[in-house]
Amino acid sequence: MFRRVAIVGGGAAAVALLTELVDRASAPLHLDWYTGGAAQPGRGIAYGTTSPRHLLNVRAATMGMFSRRPRGFLDFAQRADTQVAGTDFLPRRWYGDYLEDQAANALAQSRSRGVDVRVVPFAADALVPEIDGVTVVQGERASRVDAAVLAIGALPVRPLDGVETALLAEGRYVVDPWSFLASSGPHTAPREVALVGLGLTAIDVLLDLADRWPDTHFTAVSRHGRLPAAHLPVSTVPDDDGGALVEAMHDAPEIRRWLHLLREAIAAGDDWRVVIDSLRPSTHQLWEALPLAERARFLRHARWAWERARHRMPPQVERQVLALEREGRLRRVRGRVTAARSRGGHVELEAWHAGVRSSLLADLAIQTIGLDTDVRNTLHPLMRQMVTNGHVTPDPLGLGCQATPDGRLCHDGTPWPRLFGIGSLMRGARWESIAMPEIQLQARVLASQMLEPAAAPARRRLASQAG
Ligand SMILES: Cc1cc2nc3c(=O)[nH]c(=O)nc-3n(C[C@H](O)[C@H](O)[C@H](O)COP(=O)(O)OP(=O)(O)OC[C@H]3O[C@@H](n4cnc5c(N)ncnc54)[C@H](O)[C@@H]3O)c2cc1C
Repeated sequence: MFRRVAIVGGGAAAVALLTELVDRASAPLHLDWYTGGAAQPGRGIAYGTTSPRHLLNVRAATMGMFSRRPRGFLDFAQRADTQVAGTDFLPRRWYGDYLEDQAANALAQSRSRGVDVRVVPFAADALVPEIDGVTVVQGERASRVDAAVLAIGALPVRPLDGVETALLAEGRYVVDPWSFLASSGPHTAPREVALVGLGLTAIDVLLDLADRWPDTHFTAVSRHGRLPAAHLPVSTVPDDDGGALVEAMHDAPEIRRWLHLLREAIAAGDDWRVVIDSLRPSTHQLWEALPLAERARFLRHARWAWERARHRMPPQVERQVLALEREGRLRRVRGRVTAARSRGGHVELEAWHAGVRSSLLADLAIQTIGLDTDVRNTLHPLMRQMVTNGHVTPDPLGLGCQATPDGRLCHDGTPWPRLFGIGSLMRGARWESIAMPEIQLQARVLASQMLEPAAAPARRRLASQAG
């Protein structure tokens, strides 16, 4: 077992790992928890929202964060409101309350469980991994630990290529929608707002701003021009466990074949949502089976369709969005945005679809393309330091860092024995690695590796590098 562990990150993934470690430690353990200076550690971007319009996109019963109490979130919510059902889509801020509560409980219980937690309310500036330990630098202080886990979440968002610097300086093109929503915004409401991207981030922004600015019209530009899919009004379970489909997909790890198999399964009767959900427990194994060229093909041709099918809106959110469309306040445009320029006090967006260029004028443009996981050009200081010094190797497709499926980060194809990642940094290794059920599972696996006596791993080369 590792005696001294650093957790670097102040979001949900860090809290999931902290609670697992505190609950399961059976020998003295020291934890350094670098929370990154978050005012409310645990909430992160997703659960730091105060808007009642921002709902969880997963039903309450499946948002439990802790393996020994899978109903934890539901119990927490029902203590506040007995009317809450496990099938409800609850406000995300409630989940933030739950995370804070979990962190506070873990800290309160830590001493009695032999766990000494030092909370460092700052970002770790640098990490230097070695075979027998990791040095964590924060300010003037360097601390040596037996193992470190990077739980830093998604990277700071960058403007799309083609966005004029002058436009950014004018504040008419918003790159980080979350900071924008948290601020009071411009003094006068813009008449026309363009949303660049139409996933769940765009929906959050749309619902919040449509309420804040009742006379504003919104145009969402995206490659496919389609709204995110919605959950069924009632929770359903698959007729079978999807085992046959998963097996067939394993036997032929090619995107074209997989799409064919999915179409067949859907045509056989189940609602498509049920088919997609039945893959969830096996998604990371299927992804591991996929050769790099097929992963690249998936990202090029099927990513948006997968994201749309997999990350769905609650039905009540869909109703609100459709109402805005009916009222003429939301318009959808198909196109890939290639440029954004300042034009006489407005923003001009240039978009291409099917070889045709179109342009759109708005008073304000907000980039709503979702989370960034590409560590190759990131502005995140710690990841820049680690990539520049060759401590970690970026995933070749921009999906976090190269890593083994059990969470060891790699350098030059070799897993570090004592440096781990959780959450979005692990996208290249596991694909689905961002939502709470996956993060919770990773926290459980990591806690086992920290606490088990035989924690030191065999050093092996990554299968993807070898072949
Ligand atoms: C808008 C949104 C809605 C979502 N809704 C759902 C949902 O309904 N259901 C679901 O299952 N999942 C949802 N997710 C996905 C997932 O649950 C979240 O992304 C989750 O919060 C990820 O947690 P995290 O700890 O990995 O990252 P984050 O929450 O981003 O936290 C990372 C933390 O690490 C800190 N940090 C960064 N660098 C350092 C450093 N050098 N040192 C110390 N700290 C550092 C950051 O400041 C931040 O506080 C949603 C995500 C988003 C963005």
